[in-house]
Amino acid sequence: MFFSFDGIDGAGKSTQMRLFCEWLRAQGHDVVTCRDPGGTALGEAVRELLLKRHDLTIGRMAEMLLYMSARAQLVEQVIEPGLAAGKTVVSDRFLLANVVYQGHAGGLDVPKLWEIGRFITRGIEPDLTFLLDMPPEAAQGRIQRELDRMEQHGDDFRRRLREGFRAEAARRPGRIVVIDAARSIEVVESAVRAAAEKLLK
Ligand code: ADP
Repeated sequence: MFFSFDGIDGAGKSTQMRLFCEWLRAQGHDVVTCRDPGGTALGEAVRELLLKRHDLTIGRMAEMLLYMSARAQLVEQVIEPGLAAGKTVVSDRFLLANVVYQGHAGGLDVPKLWEIGRFITRGIEPDLTFLLDMPPEAAQGRIQRELDRMEQHGDDFRRRLREGFRAEAARRPGRIVVIDAARSIEVVESAVRAAAEKLLK
């Protein structure tokens, strides 16, 4: 089984993913965690380029393909072998984020991004994505650390992100479950479990 967490920064992905993985392990699952971009040596190097190298000019197409390349490596090296070995894979973000950030919010063609994504992942996709949804202003307010390159976009960009995520969730209700992430950590945690339990049964 393959799960992913997605949504705007500050919505609680890292927090909820950690709690969800603890719960899965307590249920006896052999859990493999990863993050996209990242999760492999190549992916982490690409992540560094994308998020930290403020000195580099990265055009929209190159940016999109860097995300895709990190993901291609992640699928080949971590996700596919994990699933083949019967493990439960949980990823912090996946293709959906690429579609929403570079497509809905960034202006690239959305169907084309899904198409490229399906090609580079060879069709491997999360059985269920938890979309942690909340107003961008409130999510931004939760972030205490220094902002990375993607997080430095303005409020307008973040509103387009939220709308993009919600539009994709509406189009793929069986695959993407919208979780109201503005609630307490405990309440969000049980909503995530309830959604997963339906699938795990
Ligand atoms: P993300 O991974 O989506 O950027 P994090 O899990 O890192 O989000 O959470 C961002 C900050 O908000 C952290 O300081 C975290 O402790 C806090 N946080 C996470 N979930 C909640 C919540 N439901 N209510 C209040 N604060 C939260």
